[in-house]
Amino acid sequence: MPMSSSHSPVTTMSATTNCCSSVRCATWGCSAPGDHAAGRSGAPEPPRSTRRVRRRICAAYIRRRTMPITELDQRLTGQIVLSNRTYERLRALTALGTRFPGTPGERAAQRFILDELRAAGLDPTIEEFEHLAWERGSASLSVTAPVTRKLLCISLAGAPSTPAGGIDGEILYLGNGTPAEFDRHKDAIRDRIVLVTSLAPRQECSPPRQCHRRTKYGRAVQYGAKAFLFMNSQPGMLPQAGSTRQNREGEIPAVTIPFEDGEVLKSLLKAGPVSVHLEATNRNYPHTTGNIVAELPGTDPDHVVLVGAHYDSHDNAVGAIDNGTGVVTVLELARLLSESGVRLRRTIRFVLFAVEEMASVGSSFYVNRHRDHLDQIDLFMNIDGIGQQGAKTFDTQGFDDAADFILDVAKDIDYEMTIPNPAFSGDSLAFVMGGVPTAAMKGSKLRSLFGHQNLSTGEDRGWGHTSADTFDKVEQHALHEAAIIAALTLIRAADHPTRMARTRTKAEVDAILRETGMDTVLSFMQWPSIDVRPKE
Ligand SMILES: [Zn+2]
Repeated sequence: MPMSSSHSPVTTMSATTNCCSSVRCATWGCSAPGDHAAGRSGAPEPPRSTRRVRRRICAAYIRRRTMPITELDQRLTGQIVLSNRTYERLRALTALGTRFPGTPGERAAQRFILDELRAAGLDPTIEEFEHLAWERGSASLSVTAPVTRKLLCISLAGAPSTPAGGIDGEILYLGNGTPAEFDRHKDAIRDRIVLVTSLAPRQECSPPRQCHRRTKYGRAVQYGAKAFLFMNSQPGMLPQAGSTRQNREGEIPAVTIPFEDGEVLKSLLKAGPVSVHLEATNRNYPHTTGNIVAELPGTDPDHVVLVGAHYDSHDNAVGAIDNGTGVVTVLELARLLSESGVRLRRTIRFVLFAVEEMASVGSSFYVNRHRDHLDQIDLFMNIDGIGQQGAKTFDTQGFDDAADFILDVAKDIDYEMTIPNPAFSGDSLAFVMGGVPTAAMKGSKLRSLFGHQNLSTGEDRGWGHTSADTFDKVEQHALHEAAIIAALTLIRAADHPTRMARTRTKAEVDAILRETGMDTVLSFMQWPSIDVRPKE
């Protein structure tokens, strides 16, 4: 076993270690340590082919200089690619069907995760909580004037039923549902049925949650709309599911429709008023589920790196990308690190969150439950929706010290990386609100290890939240790459000699929310409904 208990965290790894301080790399024109590394480089980049060759030589040099950490890097990287286990476990996980809260698939996924963690030699537990679950009934939407026509629709999760006999009303189209669109039509919204697209255009939606579905729904409710129609902004991609509120029933009926049916409504609206009839039956009910937690002890028990992924999916989907990819990646990290026998400085806590798709309920209950010990978590690494083309990067959600740490890791492993603008998305948000430094893995426009480039615009979900988010959409090498970058980052986070990022106070979190406009967004979303704020 190359990495044994003799492994000394301080001497064997440093996040600032850089191969370019070596004589060897000077051969390749590096005038200063790290000048070709990602993120904050000032020097012109060499041709890509040269960089690839140099990367291999730098890697060889690191092997000699810091043997233990590099051996662990190599061991994990090699096993991720050669075993292809992440991809094959994803095939098995997605075969279980939907993992929506309250379904048999959710229970099957829990058993799958527990079995995998136990097989890795860990001792997982379930931290149970009770939440308001939701069951879809039927939904129908028809144009009643100026023509009659049936449209395809499904309810958004958490939406209430319509009153018996349904709802009739006139459509008001508010484009992408940006704050500006809502404000412009504020006085026309009352008693209308609001139609918005799922797009969050970069220019107008900073942070992206400014134009998140739940913010659009919140504005429609606040301005008195009768019902909410959410059309997919992307053609050929079916109705895009999503939630309305966190852990409580939505106030007005809400359905999602495909791009093409939204276009029908838009084109009819060009000629004059359009009326529709909407009927939906849904059921909200109390349900007990849980987050699955397992630990790999570190040498310093007071410090934890938490790596997490949500295991639920929407009920219309097997959630291969969102978030089967995150689940199998976390399980693979648990297995490889456990089997390596290495003991790093910090305890690594693996958490598979329940009920993310209903507005981050599981992660909120996690943060709430551990409110007295949040300062033990030096970093939360979230992995969600990663198995597609493009280099991986980490959203550090406005925590500058966490961003510095990630860029140091990128430099250390010689990986192109940038820190995106904060999105305050998914399970990360509960931790941000709790003051916990957070890094959420994402795709980027940069070219990846295996050479492909991200094709998505980042302004909508692609296959996410649709019934087409299936195993065939996940790219094997993109999944391997994500697992490799997560592994190398996790090792460095777990073994960093000093605390890489600071827990924020309530006042500091409030300042981040104010500066980014998230305070307004959260008030329209009425999020959180579960207490995730740090104690004073
Ligand atoms: Zn997700």
